[in-house]
Amino acid sequence: MTFPFDNSYARLPERFYRRLAPVPVAGPRLVALNEALARQLGLAVEALRAPAGLAVLAGNAVPEGAEPLAMAYAGHQFGAFVPQLGDGRAILLGELVAPSGERFDVQLKGSGRTPFSRSGDGRAWLGPVLREYLIGEAMHALGVPTTRALAAAATGEPVYRETALPGAVLTRIARSHVRIGTFEYFSARDDREALGQLADYVIARHYPDVRDAERPYQALLEAVIGRQAELVAQWLAVGFIHGVMNTDNTSIAGETIDYGPCAFMDAYHPTTVFSSIDHQGRYAYGNQPRIAHWNLARLAQTLLPLLGPSEAQAIEAAQAAIDAFPGRFERAYLDAFRRKLGLFEAHEDDADLIGRLLKAMAETGADFTNGFRALCAAALETDGPAPAPFGDGALGAWVVDWRARLAREAANPAERAAGMRRANPAVIPRNHRVEATLAAAVDGDLAPFEELLRVVTDPWEDRPEYQRYRLPPEPHEVVQETFCGT
Ligand code: AMP
Ligand code: MG
Repeated sequence: MTFPFDNSYARLPERFYRRLAPVPVAGPRLVALNEALARQLGLAVEALRAPAGLAVLAGNAVPEGAEPLAMAYAGHQFGAFVPQLGDGRAILLGELVAPSGERFDVQLKGSGRTPFSRSGDGRAWLGPVLREYLIGEAMHALGVPTTRALAAAATGEPVYRETALPGAVLTRIARSHVRIGTFEYFSARDDREALGQLADYVIARHYPDVRDAERPYQALLEAVIGRQAELVAQWLAVGFIHGVMNTDNTSIAGETIDYGPCAFMDAYHPTTVFSSIDHQGRYAYGNQPRIAHWNLARLAQTLLPLLGPSEAQAIEAAQAAIDAFPGRFERAYLDAFRRKLGLFEAHEDDADLIGRLLKAMAETGADFTNGFRALCAAALETDGPAPAPFGDGALGAWVVDWRARLAREAANPAERAAGMRRANPAVIPRNHRVEATLAAAVDGDLAPFEELLRVVTDPWEDRPEYQRYRLPPEPHEVVQETFCGT
């Protein structure tokens, strides 16, 4: 099995990481392989499925050209700074340049203890590995920037949490694994040299355009802020709740990363939280923009030594960049929700129209995904009855206003409805389905996982055979909490 690795991160100074190989496992077995992604990366599917390929995916063999390492990073977890986190259960094998010319990290997650493991065992179990696989691939299909799953391999070893669970390793593909927390790691050590090297690395890898800016580090900060604003707007547009928006889980490249207790919302409510460890609702659905803003302020702080020329000017530049976040988010959010509502033009009162819809959805407990999908059909008519939940009450009244707003644009109704069907998915990985699927997989039955994966990676069409995946949970099926799975 050959991987054409080209490892730029391993060329950074030694204090950016610790070099070590994954820890081998007793009984590797391939659970899932993402063939489409393998091909996109230029990897041979058959070779990955063969014993030598599986050995790499389970951490039992280090392929030629790999330079395995655990990355150092710090982070603010639930608002509290931890100066050293790092890859405690992950190994970066190396980087691939895909046939498209794009560079990707290949990382094993759950690959054994590292110098950053603290009290952890360095392992993951099958449930969270398959959750990350499913939700990441669903996000990708929904057009949301995200890390992706190349493979899931069972280890044949138990992992001990509250009970013994089947161990697994996820092979994760990312544009990079540099996080806000990577900058915080060097900032906390007053290592200005490393900060500069990291910033230059990130510019070269992710933001090459800012190199020509008058102030490249300020332009870098602004570019990262722009991508986070876009990302969180897209999360809100599909009803996604990350669950652990700590700065160590915030990708500098603007991808969704570290799927832990994440979930999609069923009934719309901005205070929705699933994570069992988020008691204050810090990372609730509607709080995510504020948290991204806060996380970006932590990034800005780390960049102060690079922003100069004087400290006062650096602070002023950082503040200006951070203050621009709410406006940038608002624009991205309005764009995303205009697409959902079939609005091609921007009008002054659109924010109010969107806000009134969401308020009525919250009051009536409307299902977020099915509610927006129902509007695709309602957009075909200028009046008359609209499908549930828009038949009567506050939502019925809102549809009348919305149709009046649509009438102010010249768009063709069929084209509008088709555009809306590309902005309002028919299916999402509903949490009760995800949980049931993972439970079956842990019992050895992978068929429900494979079917759910097929459904959520094909989210835009109305397929009768997917109907049961569109149903919100019955009261007894509602999942109250999701767990980090660490
Ligand atoms: P997470 O909440 O998964 O983003 O992880 C936060 C930190 O804890 C990171 O430094 C992880 O590497 C580390 N960590 C999480 N789970 C484990 C584990 N089972 N063993 C060792 N380190 C872990
Ligand atoms: Mg993490």
